[in-house]
Amino acid sequence: MSEFAVEKSENEWREQLSPEQFAVLRQAATERPFTGALLDVDEDGLFHCAGCGTVLFSQDQKFDSGCGWPSFDAEAGTVVKRLDSSHGMMRTEILCGTCGGHLGHLFNDGPTPSGLRYCVNSLSLTFTPRPSDDATED
Ligand code: FE
Repeated sequence: MSEFAVEKSENEWREQLSPEQFAVLRQAATERPFTGALLDVDEDGLFHCAGCGTVLFSQDQKFDSGCGWPSFDAEAGTVVKRLDSSHGMMRTEILCGTCGGHLGHLFNDGPTPSGLRYCVNSLSLTFTPRPSDDATED
């Protein structure tokens, strides 16, 4: 399959990613709620796929869902959706549109006008703060 622009072998992913990142991104594991490093990030910036670096979400799309995982009400990059019927549930799995890395799930119970809740593992993402416009800060 050449569904994604970035394709790597399992061994290549294992070399690049931490064991925890590999379990989530490549094996669709879920990090324990309220444990993710990016859950409470609230400074301006961008969230990238931890597998391939593609920008997927931005801070202005992030909201506190209370569910224990970083949550967004829209996407800033290409996020692929597919049906996930595992664990006795019908859910929408979300994956990085560039490398196919598992991000989390998408729900329709969001509190903002989009009505969407992208529920994403911190381990699937890296965060880069947006550079301030000027060096001057008060
Ligand atoms: Fe990716």
